[in-house]
Amino acid sequence: MKIERLLTKIKGVVLKGEPLSNHTSIGIGGPADYFIIPEDVEDVRRVIAFCKEAGIEVLFLGQGSNVLISDEGFRGVVLKFVDGRNLQGICFLDQFRVEVQAGVPLKRLINLSQEKGLSGLEFAIGIPGSLGGAIWTNAGANSHAIGSLVEQVTVIQEDGEIKRLCNGDMFFSYRYSNFQEKSWFIWKAVLRLEPSTPAEIAKRIRVFWEKRKKQPFSCQSAGCIFKNPPGDYAGRLIEQAGCKGMVIGGAKVSESHANFIINIGGAKARDVLQLMEIIKEKVKEKFGVELEPEIAIYL
Ligand SMILES: Cc1cc2nc3c(=O)[nH]c(=O)nc-3n(C[C@H](O)[C@H](O)[C@H](O)COP(=O)(O)OP(=O)(O)OC[C@H]3O[C@@H](n4cnc5c(N)ncnc54)[C@H](O)[C@@H]3O)c2cc1C
Repeated sequence: MKIERLLTKIKGVVLKGEPLSNHTSIGIGGPADYFIIPEDVEDVRRVIAFCKEAGIEVLFLGQGSNVLISDEGFRGVVLKFVDGRNLQGICFLDQFRVEVQAGVPLKRLINLSQEKGLSGLEFAIGIPGSLGGAIWTNAGANSHAIGSLVEQVTVIQEDGEIKRLCNGDMFFSYRYSNFQEKSWFIWKAVLRLEPSTPAEIAKRIRVFWEKRKKQPFSCQSAGCIFKNPPGDYAGRLIEQAGCKGMVIGGAKVSESHANFIINIGGAKARDVLQLMEIIKEKVKEKFGVELEPEIAIYL
């Protein structure tokens, strides 16, 4: 089957040559050959199985808040998961558990859980991603991470088959999940939360929010660029290596938090990559520490 025939079967949105800079929080990324927002699970299964068979690359995207995508764009299909109208986004199963579509933004999930009096997600306030992206990266803050709440994940495998994974099938550590080793599309997850009250949860949200104030939220960025090395903070090392405020093209090391690279206007992926290289060299030279990227890079 030709890709054109596949595209006629998709119920969701299909775009050709869509600039990915419109779908990344740092505002960087060239055009995708094909850009699809699925409307239901059948759309996802069709795209994934077809691309596997035809040898076409697929890139999964949530809110695009943790990725750096090439200025040349993506040769293949980008499958972006957002809360669709035919998708049952959030379903509270009992007084502990909630089933959530992977495209649901964390912010919406936190708000609804608070209304229901379910606690556990407060640490994620201010993390601008979808649940799927958060699970893939094991997003976290202040010693908490999403992986510890995940009880079950439903994925769509490369052959289009649906598989349900339970605790023993999944592994999470600092900014790592074993989903990073697979080409599986995260479709939905069951999270286990703790009963509380909306007022208590609001209090905890305020505490976590206060701690995030130094992050440059009003700028275009992809969040923290490097992982924290064991026992230290990448931001501290980058600042002390003299990289704060450094600029290449349209990319700048944030003045308020040195582990953020911000787009100050027209930044290219190559500007960010060059800055990352310089930062790595300077930190290695001064502290002997090898920084590892936290963002997912697609070149
Ligand atoms: C201002 C700012 C602050 C941030 N603060 C934090 C923080 O405190 N802690 C933290 O951990 N992160 C932080 N981030 C990074 C980011 O928001 C999180 O990692 C978030 O969870 C990523 O979700 P996303 O939907 O944007 O994923 P994307 O950026 O779209 O994707 C990230 C990775 O997940 C994969 N992916 C996405 N959806 C799926 C899916 N359905 N199935 C399979 N794979 C998928 C993608 O292929 C990609 O490799 C911050 C980012 C910004 C811009």
